[in-house]
Amino acid sequence: MDDFKVTPWDVEGMVDYAKLIEEFGTSPLTDELLKKTAELTRSELPMYFRRRFFFSHRDYDKVLADYESGKGFFLYTGRGPSGPMHIGHIIPFFATKWLQEKFGVNLYIQITDDEKFLFKEKLTFDDTKRWAYDNILDIIAVGFDPDKTFIFQDSEFTKIYEMAIPIAKKINYSMAKAVFGFTEQSKIGMIFYPAIQAAPTFFERKRCLIPAAIDQDPYWRLQRDFAESLGYYKTAAIHSKFVPGLMGLEGKMSASKPETAVYLTDDPEEAGKKIWKYALTGGRATAKEQREKGGQPEKCVVFKWFEIFFEPDDEKLMERYHACKSGELLCGQCKRELIERVQEFLKEHQKKRKEAEKKVEKFKYTGEL
Ligand code: SF4
Repeated sequence: MDDFKVTPWDVEGMVDYAKLIEEFGTSPLTDELLKKTAELTRSELPMYFRRRFFFSHRDYDKVLADYESGKGFFLYTGRGPSGPMHIGHIIPFFATKWLQEKFGVNLYIQITDDEKFLFKEKLTFDDTKRWAYDNILDIIAVGFDPDKTFIFQDSEFTKIYEMAIPIAKKINYSMAKAVFGFTEQSKIGMIFYPAIQAAPTFFERKRCLIPAAIDQDPYWRLQRDFAESLGYYKTAAIHSKFVPGLMGLEGKMSASKPETAVYLTDDPEEAGKKIWKYALTGGRATAKEQREKGGQPEKCVVFKWFEIFFEPDDEKLMERYHACKSGELLCGQCKRELIERVQEFLKEHQKKRKEAEKKVEKFKYTGEL
């Protein structure tokens, strides 16, 4: 019996990622594939790949082969607009931006305002449309290439319906139920939704690569069951681990537990207070004990946040690790340093978010390239 659970709706416990690869039937993102990525892009790999925040894949080897042979590929990712975005939501977008920049490929970003309305009992359609606009600003602020990035909101991009119809004829109820766990009470809109979500994987007659957290993988397994029968490629994916919330390494940062998350629109001062108050460390009971025994970075959320996003320099990350282990660095100072990084990031992001208001139209996908 596993002591963790990963589904598209829920992540619980301390995830054993090697075990997850076996359970989901994906493949590990090997040194060889990463070396090939660096060679093909003639670039140093970003920390997300060097440190195996992205750790698993489906058919990424084929994506690289298609790129090398000149067939090319495209990227697709998305966001369910049910509320404000937090740091855990945005990190995979930074990794996606790296892929887009280095491979020079098109990127489609689906904003699923219809899905969130259907699946979240308490949200109105107006709510999800409002959050869609709000979340789009955060996504644009990441700095995507406006000539190669196409953002569309399902409720506005009605052409997607036409594309979803042939797909809807390929998915039967039991296939969808196996992934989404539908019951007698499920709304009929929910049952149709997998067809809408799969449609962007067919936007181009090239292989589609989806960078996303691994809990989203079940959705794409469904696409892989029927894609070839419609004359398209099975979608490829690279999977990230989860960004933990402030209060522990188990599960993932969750919008349903606001005190565990730092939102992109949080006031930097308030975000600092939240981190100071809630971030779990691997520190000892007293400063004296910590100086003697050293801290435990492997159990520490503060260290994890540095590792995932807030310390891009590998050498400095190792220095922090050793300073912690030796007892030279104490948690108060370490937390303060993280707070500074997070605040700098938030200020910069919020500035770009403001500028994004003028760019929304430029990123809108109309169905024409
Ligand atoms: Fe974590 Fe830093 Fe404390 Fe070490 S010193 S346990 S890395 S907060």
